[in-house]
Amino acid sequence: MPQEFTAADVAEHIARQDPAATLRRIAAHRRILKRHSPQEEGMGAIPPDFIEYREISPVCERCGQPGEYGVVWPCDDVRDLAEIYGVSPS
Ligand SMILES: [Zn+2]
Repeated sequence: MPQEFTAADVAEHIARQDPAATLRRIAAHRRILKRHSPQEEGMGAIPPDFIEYREISPVCERCGQPGEYGVVWPCDDVRDLAEIYGVSPS
């Protein structure tokens, strides 16, 4: 039999979860995800005239070193954030 919750139970649960802190945490995670967005062209530091590389996986905008091809997206940071929410980023 499913458990019945009263309005007071729900209110107590919401207060215990600290909605303001939850919203701040989600906003921070969104900022992290934005910084670790995939580059659409997946080119990293590869010159655009190297057509043969256009089919490679997208790379993270943030990870990797300048002059490198980039880290394949989803990078480790995106994978760690996805794990928090129990989802697969790929
Ligand atoms: Zn990254």
